[in-house]
Amino acid sequence: MEIIDKYGRTLKTLRVSLTNACNLACVYCVSGTPRKGVAKLPHLGVAALAHYIHQLHLLLRLDTVRLTGGEPTLYPHLLPLVAALGEVNIPNLKMTTNGHLLAPLVKPLAALGLKHINISLDATTEEDFRKIANTKNLLPIFKSIDAALEGGITVKLNAVILRGINDSQILPLLQFAAERGIVLRYLELMRMGPMFQEEKFQQYYFSQNEILVIIQSQYDIVALGRPQNATANYWQANHIKFGIIANETEPFCSDCDRLRLDSHGRIYGCLSNNEPIQLSDCIDDETLLQQRLLAALHQKQHVKFTGSDISMLAIGG
Ligand code: SAM
Repeated sequence: MEIIDKYGRTLKTLRVSLTNACNLACVYCVSGTPRKGVAKLPHLGVAALAHYIHQLHLLLRLDTVRLTGGEPTLYPHLLPLVAALGEVNIPNLKMTTNGHLLAPLVKPLAALGLKHINISLDATTEEDFRKIANTKNLLPIFKSIDAALEGGITVKLNAVILRGINDSQILPLLQFAAERGIVLRYLELMRMGPMFQEEKFQQYYFSQNEILVIIQSQYDIVALGRPQNATANYWQANHIKFGIIANETEPFCSDCDRLRLDSHGRIYGCLSNNEPIQLSDCIDDETLLQQRLLAALHQKQHVKFTGSDISMLAIGG
């Protein structure tokens, strides 16, 4: 039985939140109000997590598994998990991290087959970084970026742009990425967690168009479009390629193929739906698991991302 909805959408990309702990406290992520009940649930261990992913892969024939969080490098069993996932034969195993603790993990991760890492970097100066992440300590991230590039990892940078906080960083970030031959993707702020509050969202939201106007003040740009199932629109600015994940301006719900698994073994079909679907009672029952996956697929919005009060910290971005 194929897991497909009436719009032709399937579930091919699995984002796995390994932990809802993080070593940063970014303004768009941390609400300070833990969701009821979540803290009491046990986190999955390595064997259980690898088994969940294997079972999902058997039914969905996943293209990509992306490890995220919280902060995935805080998951104490990251290396054993990546080793276990090597046995599952996922075509593309990737990770998204804030990069603080990544440098010493680069070599062992690459040796285990994890070769694609997105690093979140919202500013190139300590002053602007502190406004977002509540720490000014950028050096470990820079070291991790260098270590990843030296270790043969494909690196992309993600930067959420917030009005009045780091919109002055749009060009420095592009320059930083270009100097290292890295593709940078800007993210429009999403209505998630603390930013689900309309007033806060409106205060900080900075649109794709506004980002482009700033880049065009320095570069001639050519639109490259958005690849099928991708989240980002891409442009070429002279020799530099960059993207914008324009969740608000140009939602990509119509061909979204993402499924999310949280660290308690629950799935979400859509960031705009904060009702988790439990898998613990059906992970070994093919028929029931198919039903739950179809339920997750039906959570997807067709046209517009509306957001939810659940923080990316819990659901994994
Ligand atoms: N800790 C890791 C990191 O920082 O990359 C992985 C998890 S983090 C939740 C994943 C991504 O979600 C980060 O790039 C972060 O900037 C982004 N993010 C979190 N909340 C967001 C929001 N409200 N709007 C847009 N992006 C957000």
